[in-house]
Amino acid sequence: MSAIDTAEYRKLLEDEQARLLHAVGFLERENPGSISDELGELAEGGIDNHLGDTATAMYDRELDEGLEEGARETLVEINAERIEAGTYGICEGCGKPIGAERLAAIPWARLCIDDRRRANS
Ligand SMILES: [Zn+2]
Repeated sequence: MSAIDTAEYRKLLEDEQARLLHAVGFLERENPGSISDELGELAEGGIDNHLGDTATAMYDRELDEGLEEGARETLVEINAERIEAGTYGICEGCGKPIGAERLAAIPWARLCIDDRRRANS
């Protein structure tokens, strides 16, 4: 069992997911057809639609491929179903709990810091 407060992290994940979906939706209107196939299911998966204007204002500025790519990758990383499944906060590499500090910095982290470093090397 994990000692972390999953309700708190669920909110963090859902907030970030909503923010990114909003941003991706905006990018889609700028660059149609590049992202909807992969995220269509997610976008229709019950995300509340009452998003603020902050994300739009932010992403109004520098719109480029890198931003869309980053948002898409992070959306894939954010998998709130892991909370339901009870695997949230557990490293997918070694099966040990991911440190609370790491989760605080990257709530959607799926690997502990050691495995992340290994994956990057
Ligand atoms: Zn690990």
